[in-house]
Amino acid sequence: MMSDFHRERARKAVSLMRRIGVDALLLFPGADIGYFTGFSIGPSERLSAALIPVDGDPVLVVNELERELRGQRPWIDRVEVWREHEDPVRLLADSISRRGLAESAIGLAEDAPWGWVNRLQGLLPAARFVDVSRRLSAVRMVKTPRELDWMRRACDIADRALQHAFDQMHPGMTERELAAAITTEMRHLGGGQTFCTVLFGERAALPHGGASDRRLRPGDSVLVDAGTTVHGYWSDITRTVFYGEPTPRQQELYEVVYEANRAAFEAVRPGATCESVDAAGRRVIADAGLGDYFIHRLGHGVGLQIHERPYIVKGNRLGLESGMTFTIEPGVYIVGEIGIRVEDTVVCTDGGCERLTKHRRTSTFYPAQG
Ligand code: ZN
Ligand code: ZN
Repeated sequence: MMSDFHRERARKAVSLMRRIGVDALLLFPGADIGYFTGFSIGPSERLSAALIPVDGDPVLVVNELERELRGQRPWIDRVEVWREHEDPVRLLADSISRRGLAESAIGLAEDAPWGWVNRLQGLLPAARFVDVSRRLSAVRMVKTPRELDWMRRACDIADRALQHAFDQMHPGMTERELAAAITTEMRHLGGGQTFCTVLFGERAALPHGGASDRRLRPGDSVLVDAGTTVHGYWSDITRTVFYGEPTPRQQELYEVVYEANRAAFEAVRPGATCESVDAAGRRVIADAGLGDYFIHRLGHGVGLQIHERPYIVKGNRLGLESGMTFTIEPGVYIVGEIGIRVEDTVVCTDGGCERLTKHRRTSTFYPAQG
């Protein structure tokens, strides 16, 4: 039963709360509430919340519209409903008080809506709200075999959609057209939510640029960053290929980034710190004299959110564990010239690291037509 998965996750979280002296978990819409209860709901101006006391009965508080919980079957069966004209924060405060938690430590995640929490604090002046994001992440970061299967499928869909699109490249095609081809193919292959960025040539030096009407020309590099979900779990992949045989300069830059990807991959094993993996990739780029052009962290956790813990970044001493999923995505961005990134979604394993995205990552070019 699916609800057993969520109940088991909640049990782990509750035992962590007990250990740090927190009396209840209060979850608002976002990735955590779905993960720990089985009731998935995104942010809205209408309050929804899950209250899970360390001892005592959990409850879902929802608007009357959500009385049937969108047909989902969370393990929490008690539902308290507020109607449109009622004040949901007051109802939640009453529910907390009735459970004897008005003077307790209540654990929240960092994405809890400040407005609601601030009003709750006003109604429950003796309650102490505690940020337990790191503890909740400690549970969510380590994926079960079933979650890994979903991520493998999400990665496989992205791999195949990229290849499908690369095979259609032709002169004059716009970034938007290539992005649309990838998005359509990911949906066609069964992906849920999707994202896709396509950047040609010098435009790829703007890592967060969006696809434009820039047309493909022979000699361009083509950077594609895309992903999709299976059962809510994301894939995230970037490939940079060349349209026409790369120049020695393009080839040289590519090899550095690819080597950084490999070095970081080799550094992953249980117990290695996140910052040591970042350093392993960064060293390769710095040694090639390109350190100033690698302007972001090496990677980020992936799961129910496309960016989540663990962050693979300098200063993060967190030790990796088998089952943690994250990206390895070194890049160089030379404004006015080119951007190159090679990104994989990976999982830390007992023996080291496994790549979940498998699309060819060695330097690849597609013959330019016309
Ligand atoms: Zn990406
Ligand atoms: Zn990424």
